[in-house]
Amino acid sequence: MSDCLFCRIAKKEIPDKVVFDDAKMLAFEDIRPQAPVHVLIIPKAHFASLNEAPEGAETLLGEMLFRAREIARERGIGASGYRVVLNTARDSGQEVLHIHFHLLGGRRMTWPPG
Ligand code: 5GP
Ligand code: ZN
Repeated sequence: MSDCLFCRIAKKEIPDKVVFDDAKMLAFEDIRPQAPVHVLIIPKAHFASLNEAPEGAETLLGEMLFRAREIARERGIGASGYRVVLNTARDSGQEVLHIHFHLLGGRRMTWPPG
């Protein structure tokens, strides 16, 4: 998927503010932050969305979720609260077709989401 934006970010072909990096996943600052903390967490393997997540990806997705929790702790918003968002397909507003969790926090969120 050489034309996928987030694959290119994962391969460091595009410079980004990296928050966490290991063999399986990358976390980096969102380019248009919607909250004081807005970090994206992606797997290095490409799949477009939760709908396309392959058999066996359960552990990876769980590790990404726990990474979001760890980053929230590091940013000092673990106790005050944060939101993890996984937009999936058209009605969610998903724009980048490489699965990613949004970690958002540092301000009071509203519900329901827009
Ligand atoms: P989606 O709507 O697909 O769930 O979210 C895509 C997110 O990717 C948006 O929050 C958008 O600001 C972010 N984004 C889009 N292009 C780039 C980029 O080139 N670099 C970074 N760091 N974030 C991006
Ligand atoms: Zn990709």
